[in-house]
Amino acid sequence: MNRDEVLDILGKTGAILNGHFILSSGLHSDKYIQCALTLQYPKYSAWLARAIADKFRTEMITVVLSPAVGAIVLGQEVAKAVGARAIFTEREEGKMTLRRGFSLTKNDRVLIVEDVLTTGSTVNELINLVRENEGRLIGVAAIVDRATEKLEFKDRFEYLVKIPIKNYSEDKCPLCKEGVPAVKLGSRGLK
Ligand SMILES: [Zn+2]
Repeated sequence: MNRDEVLDILGKTGAILNGHFILSSGLHSDKYIQCALTLQYPKYSAWLARAIADKFRTEMITVVLSPAVGAIVLGQEVAKAVGARAIFTEREEGKMTLRRGFSLTKNDRVLIVEDVLTTGSTVNELINLVRENEGRLIGVAAIVDRATEKLEFKDRFEYLVKIPIKNYSEDKCPLCKEGVPAVKLGSRGLK
């Protein structure tokens, strides 16, 4: 699956929103990527997951780890495609944790899967969690990298499409200056 095919799927499922958004961080932007709108179609989530899985085909992944809630569906599909288990992290008192009896062992080869990467801060929390649990991190994968700068992790990082979206502080936002009404996104950006 190439970049244009991924963009086509995101576009036709309405996942690339244009407008004036206030992100959970308080920053403003003129675009927002809502992958849930794509992942609501099992056909597309399976296609995108297979494209991610293909990049890690030879890595003998045993666990796909995703942050709740947005990336759970994708993580499940990637795990299915590589023949691994799928587990997810949840925020407990602000900290990403494994709940529900989920665990990692030192024999686990872990792939972290996220739908959209903005700053990589959530992924970094997951990387730390893998380390704390002695799992072996093989890589990080996402459908969309929406950072304007290059995101780097110590481990391998793969994304299907890069859609750089500029963020503005309120006083510098060109849309605010034009008086365009802003849509405030929910906690953690509608996730
Ligand atoms: Zn604005």
